Amino acid sequence: MIAACSVAGSDSGGGAGIQADLKTFTALGVFGLTVVTAVTAQNTREVRGTWMLPPDAVRAQMEAVADDFFIGAWKTGMLGNAPIIRTVAEALPEGAALVIDPVMVSTSGHRLLAEDAVADLVGLLIPRAAVVTPNIPEAEVLAGMRVRTVEDMADAGRRILDLGARAVVVKGGHLAGGAATDLLVDREGEMRLSGERYPYPVHGSGCCFSAALAACLARGMPVEEGFRAARKFIDTAIREAAGGPGPVRAVNPGG
Ligand code: PLP
Repeated sequence: MIAACSVAGSDSGGGAGIQADLKTFTALGVFGLTVVTAVTAQNTREVRGTWMLPPDAVRAQMEAVADDFFIGAWKTGMLGNAPIIRTVAEALPEGAALVIDPVMVSTSGHRLLAEDAVADLVGLLIPRAAVVTPNIPEAEVLAGMRVRTVEDMADAGRRILDLGARAVVVKGGHLAGGAATDLLVDREGEMRLSGERYPYPVHGSGCCFSAALAACLARGMPVEEGFRAARKFIDTAIREAAGGPGPVRAVNPGG
């Protein structure tokens, strides 16, 4: 059995967070494990409240799954605050294949990571990442620069590589107009994948993308191949998300 573990927040609306990750893992044939960091009361339109779990509860969940499963890849999403980040860094097994979705603020504008926790994310977790998957606003924070063009995305990606990640996928969905371009940067160079931009808001697309990438790594794919497969998966999921502001549905990439 191939397992992947999501360390993230619960979304009562089911479109993002732990719930999106589990649906994605299942759609991609990987057994999903979860370490809940926070509980959110939200739907597709708004986050009404967030409650962080005590770090000890996060540690206990990580130890429980790591003691029992072969975990092919880990993914982090909403980590909430600095004490939780420090705990995750301590409890994460050495050499784990780690995808970091550096979740900071929800599309609806609610903070999902304390501002003072960014330094610990950068110092303790990003150097251990196989891949970091920022959207444009997150790339701007991590790289300390404005991102307005695909060339800026490449520059920001290289700056985030310099923080110690082995690869970075900068997701271009927030750039204005044209095709939606996502960009993989690693020490070998870069790869751009462009696709259709769908004219409606979706919720949880970043969560599903990083979970799909983690599922691909868990299945033994190299990062480039995983990037291609995860992008295809999310493209299908957004296309089939019913055309409204509903959650991105986890669907079979071939379906
Ligand atoms: N809620 C939780 C628990 C999340 O982990 C995320 C992930 O980014 C979100 C909400 C954000 O969802 P979106 O910004 O796609 O609406």
